[in-house]
Amino acid sequence: PKYVYDFTEGNKDLKGLLGGKGANLAEMTNLGLPVPPGFTITTEACRHYLSHGDMPDGLGEEVAAHLAALESGMGKRLGDPDDPLLVSVRSGAKFSMPGMMETVLNIGINDRSVLGLAKQSGNERFAWDSYRRLIQMFGKTVLGVDGELFERAIDELKGEREDTDLDTPDLQRLVETYKGIVRERTGREFPADPREQMDLAIRAVFGSWNAPRAVLYRRQERIPADLGTAVNVVAMVFGNLGADSGTGVAFTRDPGTGQRGVYGDYLQNAQGEDVVAGIRNTVPLQELEAVDPVSYRRLLEIMATLEGHYRDLCDIEFTVERGKLWMLQTRVGKRTAAAAFRIAVQLVDEGLIDMDEAVTRVTGDQLAQLMFPRFATPEGDGRLTTGMNASPGAAVGKAVFTSARAVELAGRGEDVILVRRETNPDDLSGMIAAKGVLTSRGGKTSHAAVVARGMGKTCVCGAEELDVDVDARRFTTRDGTVVEEGDVISIDGGNGAVYLGEVPVVASPVVEYFEGGHPDDELVAAVHRVMTHADSVRVLGVRANADTPEDAARARRFGAQGVGLCRTEHMFLGDRRKLVEDLILATTPQERQAALDALEPLQTADFTGLFAAMDGLPVTIRLIDPPLHEFLPDITDLSVRLALAADQAPEKDRRLLEAVRRLHEQNPMLGLRGVRLGLAVPGLFAMQVRAIAAAARRSANPKAEIMIPLVSAVQELELVRDEAAKILAETGVDALIGTMIEVPRAALTAGQIAEAAEFFSFGTNDLTQMTWGFSRDDVESAFFGRYLDLGIFGVSPFESIDPDGVGRLMRIAAEEGRRTRPGLKLGICGEHGGDPESVRFCHEIGLDYVSCSPFRVPVARLEAGRAAL
Ligand code: PEP
Ligand code: MG
Repeated sequence: PKYVYDFTEGNKDLKGLLGGKGANLAEMTNLGLPVPPGFTITTEACRHYLSHGDMPDGLGEEVAAHLAALESGMGKRLGDPDDPLLVSVRSGAKFSMPGMMETVLNIGINDRSVLGLAKQSGNERFAWDSYRRLIQMFGKTVLGVDGELFERAIDELKGEREDTDLDTPDLQRLVETYKGIVRERTGREFPADPREQMDLAIRAVFGSWNAPRAVLYRRQERIPADLGTAVNVVAMVFGNLGADSGTGVAFTRDPGTGQRGVYGDYLQNAQGEDVVAGIRNTVPLQELEAVDPVSYRRLLEIMATLEGHYRDLCDIEFTVERGKLWMLQTRVGKRTAAAAFRIAVQLVDEGLIDMDEAVTRVTGDQLAQLMFPRFATPEGDGRLTTGMNASPGAAVGKAVFTSARAVELAGRGEDVILVRRETNPDDLSGMIAAKGVLTSRGGKTSHAAVVARGMGKTCVCGAEELDVDVDARRFTTRDGTVVEEGDVISIDGGNGAVYLGEVPVVASPVVEYFEGGHPDDELVAAVHRVMTHADSVRVLGVRANADTPEDAARARRFGAQGVGLCRTEHMFLGDRRKLVEDLILATTPQERQAALDALEPLQTADFTGLFAAMDGLPVTIRLIDPPLHEFLPDITDLSVRLALAADQAPEKDRRLLEAVRRLHEQNPMLGLRGVRLGLAVPGLFAMQVRAIAAAARRSANPKAEIMIPLVSAVQELELVRDEAAKILAETGVDALIGTMIEVPRAALTAGQIAEAAEFFSFGTNDLTQMTWGFSRDDVESAFFGRYLDLGIFGVSPFESIDPDGVGRLMRIAAEEGRRTRPGLKLGICGEHGGDPESVRFCHEIGLDYVSCSPFRVPVARLEAGRAAL
């Protein structure tokens, strides 16, 4: 295979092979934009390297050929003593992983070429500074030398001075010191051969795919672990050649709000890494206009070209080298959830995309983010300061100053806000653990901002008035207020406000809209248009899991087209638990009947309420499915109570203990539940069906669907179905009778089961539990983290349907069920019904509807629409 592509050979659709950066550099090159020349080594080469520990055959020659072409194009040779070509070696995976992998700049400098560089640039100081940066970056990322050693050496040399105060002799001395560090730490000289520098850097970039922080980031972002990264070898351009040079990051629209207009940060006389790292505070891009109007205007033109070409918000990294503008990167930019909705409809209004495409431009996860509450901000009250609104949301928690502490406290269930001067990729674990992130330095394109936006985490950055002292674990505001570790603060990622103490929160306008209100708000208008279109294209119905009229009513306002699961056992928690206990403990038919008689009117009222809330829409009522242990007292507690009471213990408690002992199960989730209980306790299901019938007769437009849980064999279902059908016939009530498919045997015998079922609803909670053999109640904490680390699955199968195992059973059941009964109605009511990936899967296998918790209904509607496009 071909492992190396010149920028003129690729295009934006080759992201899988060339990585996002490489594919887009190629695209820009082909659009005629000013991209420094270079080439991309494919992800395929990386995958080979990672699995074999060595480069594929022929890669070296291919690289050599492309390097030769690059050299002849530039009229310079890599590391040439008189006029050296320098290159950067940059990572770039299919999905952007900001700052997670390595990049090495200034490759090609050695003791001789540094002199050529000085001569050609006319800037000796610059040449030596570039050399020391190379050794430092290369030493750390390629040779694995502790970066602190370099930092310490430069700090020692500087003393009280700034970086910029170091002159050429200082930097020459620093280069020697750095070379000494490399020698001492690695037992070898810093490699002087430019090609060797380049080859080693390429290997290091490949290897950085598996750096711990990259692994963590991928898991967080659900990026597959086996994609590998591409490597881009790009001719260096320099933003640090003086005041007429600089570097910046720009967005074609505001990625925070979606506002139209140019937006970005610029840093004069600096290299790109300085901006992204947030080390120096940037100025707004508009200030470039004053410094260099020609480059500024050219940049605006290019941005317009890119937006028109990609038909989306683009983000851009650029460098100005002595008044000449160079594009170093572009991609379709990350944005906040609110910006995603606004931009999608803006682009429709601008004629760049149609509504179908607009629906695919937003995600269910983004919609879910917009449904989070916001702060009720009492004007000025307790506000410590205001930073930049880098990533929206309202976060409240204890201030912590290190990642480790954030992880530690969050592990104990505490809410924390990670406060840093700036973040770097090593802070990732703390950012994940924290409710929000606050930094005192860096713009909206700083590491903290970019990563937080990607994670949907609240972030306020660049709050410059705060003096953050990580060592002392506190920050101080301009007016002298000191906030120590553990003090509660509130941060508002929507407007950048930072408050001392806990600020109360209010509902989101998007939720108000779903609730039926019409807040006058551009975002709400955008959400409305997108949702309306998603509803018009989706094939899947969306129902809700609701057990109370209130939940059902809310779900209906949120767009649910019925109840897909009413868990009747939830109607017996609290005070009524006792009634179920009486029923389970009954030993004579009289006792049992008395218990059932007590339950029936309550159930009738419950169902009447549900039918009213869902008037005219289907309501799937599942007959009771209580794992017994949830309805009986704990055996140990009860034994202790009895032992303490000794002779005084009431007769009833003695009977209770006897019964609890008799019914005690080692595996209650695999025990006397669902249809098994219905068959074991005569009259129980019949009571519920009578209550459903009575409620239906009292209601205006009832559409009852009676669902039998935990069926494994058609015989179980037939017995219950016959009894229920008889009651319905006697009462003259019409209702469908169907079953859950939540035991693997039911899925595998779906063809038989469909003979007795008018509908199936997949209970993917139990189906996952029983297919994997993972207890749904215990497993998540015990070893799932390990399994995720080991890549056995990328996401918990309880969160997102495992398509190969559980999903296969669903396919079989759907197909064989419909073969028996062509009109068989199919749905899902496990937690997966509200998970975006799972919704798509359900669409794919042809289910009629998904059912999820009321709050997820809008998410499911949107994802169902996206799945249909
Ligand atoms: C299921 O198992 O997926 C289901 C919906 O039922 P429950 O969660 O009540 O067991
Ligand atoms: Mg179940």
